[in-house]
Amino acid sequence: MEKIFKCSICGYIAEGIEAPEVCPKCGLGKEKFVELSEEDAKKIYASDRTNNIHAEIIVLADRIAELSKEGIEENLDPKCVSAFEKAKNEAWVIKQRCKAELAGHMANGKW
Ligand SMILES: [Zn+2]
Repeated sequence: MEKIFKCSICGYIAEGIEAPEVCPKCGLGKEKFVELSEEDAKKIYASDRTNNIHAEIIVLADRIAELSKEGIEENLDPKCVSAFEKAKNEAWVIKQRCKAELAGHMANGKW
């Protein structure tokens, strides 16, 4: 049965029957890995999809900000510029809220 191991140096999470010989992130040896409890392993699996969704929303919010900047530069008329300025500001809020949520996940082992 597969287990979950965490590198005690860099936090890399590995899945397998045994810990990897070398950590793919920091390059240190197998002895630096600790096996996670079933409860901690469940947190990692349960949060995998939502972490990916947050990451994708962050990328999309960045795209909204880029498009909004382009729209502001087009400068069609004041109402149009205002709509793009609002979208750019809202994209920042969306992005930062997702980053804050991810930081909370990481702090709580949901990563
Ligand atoms: Zn490592």
